[in-house]
Amino acid sequence: MTHRSGLPADLTRASADQLSRALAAREISAAEVTQAHLDRMTGVDERVHAFLHRDDEGALATARAVDDERTRGVDLPALAGVPVAVKDIACTRGMPTTAGSAILRGWLPPYDATIVSRLRAARMPLLGKTNMDEFAMGSSTEHSAYGPTHNPWDLTRIPGGSGGGSAAAVASFQAPLAIGSDTGGSIRQPAAVTGTVGAKPTYGGVSRYGVIALASSLDQIGPCARTVLDAALLHEVVGGHDPMDSTSIDAPVPPVVEAARRGQVRGLRIGVVRELGGQGYQPGVSQRFEEALALLQGEGAQIQEVTCPHFEYALATYYLILPSEASSNLARYDAMRYGLRVTPDGPEAPDDPSNEQVMAATRDAGFGTEVKRRIILGTYALSSGYYDAYYGQAQKVRTLIAQDFTAAFDQVDVLVSPVTPTTAFTIGAKIDDPLAMYLSDIATIPVNLAGLPALSVPAGLAPEDGLPVGFQVIAPAMADDRMYAVGAALERLLTDRWGGPLLDQAPPLIDRAGKLGN
Ligand code: GLN
Repeated sequence: MTHRSGLPADLTRASADQLSRALAAREISAAEVTQAHLDRMTGVDERVHAFLHRDDEGALATARAVDDERTRGVDLPALAGVPVAVKDIACTRGMPTTAGSAILRGWLPPYDATIVSRLRAARMPLLGKTNMDEFAMGSSTEHSAYGPTHNPWDLTRIPGGSGGGSAAAVASFQAPLAIGSDTGGSIRQPAAVTGTVGAKPTYGGVSRYGVIALASSLDQIGPCARTVLDAALLHEVVGGHDPMDSTSIDAPVPPVVEAARRGQVRGLRIGVVRELGGQGYQPGVSQRFEEALALLQGEGAQIQEVTCPHFEYALATYYLILPSEASSNLARYDAMRYGLRVTPDGPEAPDDPSNEQVMAATRDAGFGTEVKRRIILGTYALSSGYYDAYYGQAQKVRTLIAQDFTAAFDQVDVLVSPVTPTTAFTIGAKIDDPLAMYLSDIATIPVNLAGLPALSVPAGLAPEDGLPVGFQVIAPAMADDRMYAVGAALERLLTDRWGGPLLDQAPPLIDRAGKLGN
């Protein structure tokens, strides 16, 4: 069934691009679009748990203001009235921001992150804040202090992490767009396992000001969406120079929207990274990856294998650099400045606890196991006796990994690989095995170490379990547009083959009223 001119009758099924056109043509109102998504949230989020906080009033107020401005003939930005969800890692003035941690329970930031200001300036209703692994440490969203998010394809499975909330919100049609953050794969891996699109821009391409820091040399904000074009539209809104972030690139945002609309690979040299595939990858993941490659080749792309010998050390390097930076960044949760404050009690507790004792009690109660593990690892790696052997050595290997990329990009225009070695695993399966969890990001982590842009595009369902597989496209720094062009071309070829978007094949979620919610 269709709505007026080609829009689906259920507005939550429309893409951001479709909504933006219909809003501009005044076929639909922003209030009606926003209400449809809030209703959908009421129907399904009890099962999915993508949101930690919903802001019905704020979202509807923005939507009504947009409708009013449109009626008065005000010139509005392209995505005005298109709702968006924000990962709970970005500060939102007056709206709870927890980074998935109990230590920030109830904290109301006094300011907006730059990306949030940009969403507001783009007149996009903010639906709420999405669930995540605590401080973005994890690959399953099970490390959230507020309980896990469920994968809309199979509620017993993980939606990926750390940004499982944003990916699940988009995959379950609760939001057409969402913001994620990617330090080692937290946008791309959730996109891959939920059958959605996720992009990690070039490091410095999107402001980190007001985004709660995990590992500052790796963190990058980016878009989550259901189509490559929608991801590019959101990328363009949040991207670009910000004087408040000293690592922000002072150059125009690459022409990502134009590239996503064009979607072309003819004559492009595509390098398959030998180290990011093959042994250790689930057969159905490799199969869908190979099929996608063949389609691109059929479109006139030249495929060749490239080798990046130092990638074998990427995981070890990352798990020294990340904990080191995280242990330093997380020192600010000292019971004095934000959120939780616990006074030691019990029979052993001091009568008049020192600041240090309050800090220790607060950090003990407020941080989860994974966060404590990484603070300890990082503190150890940075300690005076081991600094050179661990942190210093990891920085050298990081340079070698970046040089592998440079050498590869001398031969080809983009690099490709599967996004993850497996499809979504069962909730609980890896929670007690940190190393197994870390391996989920084996193909995404090298990209962050080198600061490059990369995109995850749905490649189909693994035959053995019927769950989504992601295809990764990596581009040179500041060539983000190139990855969108390849992603859009692949998306077009695959949706033609499937006869529609991959998410159309997802099993229905049942809403509270007992109706099919899909
Ligand atoms: N899963 C990776 C980790 O646990 C990546 C996290 C991220 O990108 N924020 O560190």
